[in-house]
Amino acid sequence: MDEEPRWELVDLISRIDAWGRSAPERLVHQSDAASLTWGDLIRRSDALAGAIASSCLRPGSPIVLRGHKEPEMLVGFLGCAKSAHPYVPIDVAVPESRAERIVAAANAEMVLTPERIRELEALGRPRPLLSGDLETPFYVMFTSGSTGEPKGVVITRGCLDAFVSWMLNEQHFATGGETFLNQAVFSFDLSVMDVWCCLATGGTLFSLTATVLSDFRRLFQSLASSGVTTWVSTPPFAQLCLADRGFRQELLPHLTRFLFCGDVLTGEIAQRLIERFPMAEVWNTYGPTEATVATTSVQIRGEVLRRYPQLPVGVAMPGSKVLVVDDGGVRVTDGTRGEIMIVGPNVSPGYLGRPELSARVFSSRDGMRAYRTGDWGVYEEGLLFFQGRMDNQVKIAGHRIELGDVEAQVASLASVRGAAVVTSIKHGRADSLHAFVVLVHRPPGSDLEIGAALRKELASLLPAYMLPRKFHVLNRFPLTANGKTDRKALAAMVNA
Ligand code: AMP
Repeated sequence: MDEEPRWELVDLISRIDAWGRSAPERLVHQSDAASLTWGDLIRRSDALAGAIASSCLRPGSPIVLRGHKEPEMLVGFLGCAKSAHPYVPIDVAVPESRAERIVAAANAEMVLTPERIRELEALGRPRPLLSGDLETPFYVMFTSGSTGEPKGVVITRGCLDAFVSWMLNEQHFATGGETFLNQAVFSFDLSVMDVWCCLATGGTLFSLTATVLSDFRRLFQSLASSGVTTWVSTPPFAQLCLADRGFRQELLPHLTRFLFCGDVLTGEIAQRLIERFPMAEVWNTYGPTEATVATTSVQIRGEVLRRYPQLPVGVAMPGSKVLVVDDGGVRVTDGTRGEIMIVGPNVSPGYLGRPELSARVFSSRDGMRAYRTGDWGVYEEGLLFFQGRMDNQVKIAGHRIELGDVEAQVASLASVRGAAVVTSIKHGRADSLHAFVVLVHRPPGSDLEIGAALRKELASLLPAYMLPRKFHVLNRFPLTANGKTDRKALAAMVNA
């Protein structure tokens, strides 16, 4: 006779399992392509966890989940959690060669696609839940690294617990009643906000697939049928939607909340959303992947809009501190600009297998983990304001990109001798990437043709959002007085 599985109480996961028992028929995930019920999510993730547990992997070794927004990805997240293996999401938009480097960097023994998940589920039998403590890695999110090697941010169960508990306490989501918009791909940590808040509250996740996102008409049809109550996206995505006059409360009659993170929320976007969605609150949240999605928040009400032309990112979540410090890590006085440092249980223990890189930015402070963000910030009237980056990391349409990462890939092309990548600026924000290249031999053809060929080659190394929009062929780079590539001069050329 089959042994009754004995589930240990693990708060977040047992809470999620309880939803599967109390509302098995309700949808937990929906997109234009597929849907999944709560009952099936729990049954299938138990079976997957059983199959993983029988696979003799190194205990706690990362498992790569390579897919897009299929329901199996959710089955995979939970299956990994229930077998105490961190998951590493890689969207299918990431080219194979980059995905392979991530698999190698994660030292992953198992790569699961939606098809493979279905096969494994068929083999697996539920097993007792493997307990992990709060320090157990829960997921590893790879982000752009400045030298061209993606870096894996390790997020523990404790980090995720801290983040989700804060969101639930602050946002008072309707339990069992929310439909969360999932715009970001699962390999962007913004999606952690919608996925895990949805799972913790027994909601429904409404995913916008790449197919829907690439077609405005379908996007609006999809939104109209979504029943979304909580919107989670980067501000640039909302800005894109606002370009259509039909983007208003009538389209999303149940929408009560916009949650933004990952990029600057301008007063203009917030103002227009407040006007067009009278029933919805607008929240700005701030934080890097290294501190589990977001650490500060503020509701953007009318008085905040009127008072601050540049919107604040808010105040720290309870239990964490967000400091503004000088070069030596000493807090600066309010009104003085410094680097934003995050201290708390939501801070990652570091980059996977990269102790030196980790040591540069992670430390401990007041008995908690601390992370230097590389973001400029300032406190005014008790509110934190983000003031741009201290380095060459940029955000393009909400995507985090290290210019050095793109440069390293462009420079790796056989025909390229040297490369420098800068951003064009539109309305005060990074808009697109421009690559300046010095070639080994100049082939026949215009700069445009040469650029198109380079771009095509680069597409096998970088996801589409990291591809330079334009290539400029130079005979040599302009140099600064001390002989370095003069990036300011290059940036001036594209922003003339
Ligand atoms: P990511 O790790 O992709 O979430 O990117 C983190 C970076 O995005 C931060 O270090 C900031 O530079 C930027 N960022 C995140 N949230 C905000 C926000 N609300 N406003 C402005 N920039 C933000």
